[in-house]
Amino acid sequence: MRGRASGLTALVLGAAAGGGFPQWNCGCHLCCLARSGDPRVRAATQASIAVTGNETDWVVVGASPDLRQQIVQNPRLWPAHGPRHSPLAAVVLLGGDVDAIAGLLVLRERQPFTVYAPVPLLDLLRQNNIFNVLDPAIVRQEPIVPDQPVRCPGEIVLTLLEMPGKLPLYLESRGATVAEPGPTFAARLEGNGRSVIMAPACAEITDGVRQHLRDADLVFFDGTLFTDDEMIAAGLGQKTGRRMGHVPVSGPGGTLEGLSDLPGRRVLLHINNSNPILLRDSPERRQVEAAGFEVAFDGMEVVL
Ligand SMILES: [Zn+2]
Repeated sequence: MRGRASGLTALVLGAAAGGGFPQWNCGCHLCCLARSGDPRVRAATQASIAVTGNETDWVVVGASPDLRQQIVQNPRLWPAHGPRHSPLAAVVLLGGDVDAIAGLLVLRERQPFTVYAPVPLLDLLRQNNIFNVLDPAIVRQEPIVPDQPVRCPGEIVLTLLEMPGKLPLYLESRGATVAEPGPTFAARLEGNGRSVIMAPACAEITDGVRQHLRDADLVFFDGTLFTDDEMIAAGLGQKTGRRMGHVPVSGPGGTLEGLSDLPGRRVLLHINNSNPILLRDSPERRQVEAAGFEVAFDGMEVVL
């Protein structure tokens, strides 16, 4: 305890998108800078935050494959009572990609906690036998549905928010082979009258998205790519950001434009290693900061 009876604390466990920064097989300019220890960039693990309303019990949003390392790096998540204990009381799942669920596997040491997830994601866990390492008698699974608040550990009220997901095939550019329409999710966590939203994936900033984000004190928002064709231009992939379900930070319809009038703190998170905002003195980073956005980093702590 830190002697505070009220407020909400959010801790960034990982700021990077899938693959992390640097990514193991990536030889791009930024990954090379990160490997060389250049002070203008910070290495980052894959996207996850932890939130608490009582400074004791934490709700982790996003179970990245780096979760073990993230717990090791953050003393707030270390055992505090007796031979077996963890302040990690709950995990919220928002997506079914490897970088969003694989972290559950490192929590397999017969430690009780609760997994909150939309039904399709709980089904995904059941269909993959490897997740049986989390004994349901010890690790409770709690389905959550959009817009229906549930009470969580840590004096937190959790609400699942539906977000625009990957675009339907008919809207995609040539070369796409699989249609992946449908929603993705964000999480709103409220405690002591303060609120934080974790939205690591959003394909398009609609009026509905703006409505969801409007009254939050702090928003961690999809900062995957600075420009929609960034991966293609750098020779790192074939897909645009929108094709992957991520609205670009810049340009028409991008995040800087679409979320320019949000009243709360706006922090870009889930940043791909190709994104030039990772470089502290880049023009793109200056553009983001001039627009009133912050760039998340591992270990960033915000007390609301
Ligand atoms: Zn790279």
